[in-house]
Amino acid sequence: EGKATAALVVRALDVVAERLRDAEDELGRMDAIAGDGDHGRGMTKGSAAAAEAATEEAAQGVGPAAVLLAAGDAWASKAGGTSGALWGAALRSFGDLLPADRAVTGDDVTSGAAAALASVQRLGRAELGDKTLVDALVPFVDALREATGSGAGVARAWQRAAEVATEAAAGTAELRPRTGRARPLAERSVGTPDPGATSLAMALTWIGGVLAE
Ligand code: ADP
Ligand code: MG
Ligand code: MG
Repeated sequence: EGKATAALVVRALDVVAERLRDAEDELGRMDAIAGDGDHGRGMTKGSAAAAEAATEEAAQGVGPAAVLLAAGDAWASKAGGTSGALWGAALRSFGDLLPADRAVTGDDVTSGAAAALASVQRLGRAELGDKTLVDALVPFVDALREATGSGAGVARAWQRAAEVATEAAAGTAELRPRTGRARPLAERSVGTPDPGATSLAMALTWIGGVLAE
């Protein structure tokens, strides 16, 4: 079971890396409005490094936690930027909650997502409403908990929660950044969604597609 979960993690990271390459310019333009324009580049570099590290690690026959540990370390070290460090920590924390000896349940992914959110907030100190990826991740975790709690399977619950995260990411357009690089140009960012929340929602949606395969 652990190897099957590890293989699914590799597949999800491969898909995320491939699609982020296509979204790189769009995310860069979004970050350039009030930030420094490097979000697309950072996400592409980080996810590519994570997918490669995950593939190598999974080839050793290890479980999902070890695969996500390697992926998170690679993402954080290759992406650069605030979002890279946060993504790295999130992947490591998520992996810690995945079992190696049985199939993954809704409770496992909910605990994993909650742990990822906790480490993102421990590291970045952003709160809901600060116009960061936390504004997509909090509703994602809540929706995942609700969907799995009402009996939905992992794939369906994840897809539902990804829809909620996508709406929440779009809703960050009206917010003013209170932390991160975009803060000095806060007014300029009103009307544009937060790039980190947007890329997170994209990735969660693509992962939902992999889970439903
Ligand atoms: P940098 O801001 O270092 O150039 P990126 O451009 O890759 O890094 O990422 C910017 C994104 O990182 C923002 O859109 C926001 O979603 C996220 N971010 C920035 N600071 C924080 C924070 N303290 N907590 C959570 N997310 C943050
Ligand atoms: Mg940036
Ligand atoms: Mg930067």
